[in-house]
Amino acid sequence: MTDGNIEMHIDPARAQQLCNNFSAVLSRVKSASSTSQAPIRLVAVSKLKPANDVLALHREPHHQLHFGENYQQELLQKSQLLPREIRWHFIGALQTNKCKPLAEQIPNLWCVESVDTVKKADQLEKGRHALCEKDKQYEAEPLRIFVQVNTSGEEEKSGVEPKDAIALCQHVRDQCPNLKLQGIMTIGAIARSKGVSEGKENEDFVTLRNVRDQVAKDLGLGQEQLELSMGMSEDFESAIQCGSNEVRVGSTIFGERPNKAEAKIKENNEEGKS
Ligand SMILES: *Cc1c(COP(=O)(O)O)cnc(C)c1O
Repeated sequence: MTDGNIEMHIDPARAQQLCNNFSAVLSRVKSASSTSQAPIRLVAVSKLKPANDVLALHREPHHQLHFGENYQQELLQKSQLLPREIRWHFIGALQTNKCKPLAEQIPNLWCVESVDTVKKADQLEKGRHALCEKDKQYEAEPLRIFVQVNTSGEEEKSGVEPKDAIALCQHVRDQCPNLKLQGIMTIGAIARSKGVSEGKENEDFVTLRNVRDQVAKDLGLGQEQLELSMGMSEDFESAIQCGSNEVRVGSTIFGERPNKAEAKIKENNEEGKS
């Protein structure tokens, strides 16, 4: 059987390990959520991990659909190797001039979570429009957008300032017919997550929730119409307790990541080789 365009070998021990890790994260997500909450979307962040790791989780028993990637070239290659039903999330730093090809070349790109300028939104709009021109079937489903907000004020983090989030959200909603404003996203300061003690809320998550409430109010939307994408390996439980709708978990599922230079998209692990 082929998945995508190639035969892919999956090491059974590795697959078992990944499935166990994934199950453990799933149950932690469940216990952190309250029963009144809508189900939390768990995005498995597979950046710098090989395509057969993704396939192992996409197969039975988990049949995971949502995977997150940070690097454009890597995402493009994986999207060509792996089944089309996978829902890719681009969560990495975006370059304006790469936005159009990103949206145009990956039909099963489910969302882009790192939009922080009007120019990037406009280029993604152009790319999705071009995709729809080639195949009208994609018109039915706009490309979802999360506006990334810099909630920690750290200079090296991307994202719009909280005060500028409304204008950008409004632009996506009103000026980009092939995009859909799905919500807002933050990364937050790791130091802050680690410093949060039991029962105290993480400031970044509180800030993002406040921005969401304000944007929803100004755009005349219900709060439930704007999702919060917040929480990673170190802090996803506290993010859920602060109202997160989507958590993005990488290393707790896939293990530590290799350096970017050493990452291999296609693992060359034919049987018989160690
Ligand atoms: C890498 C990454 C993650 C996952 O990080 P882990 O700590 O490995 O869970 C989540 N979100 C973004 C934006 C990332 O770049």
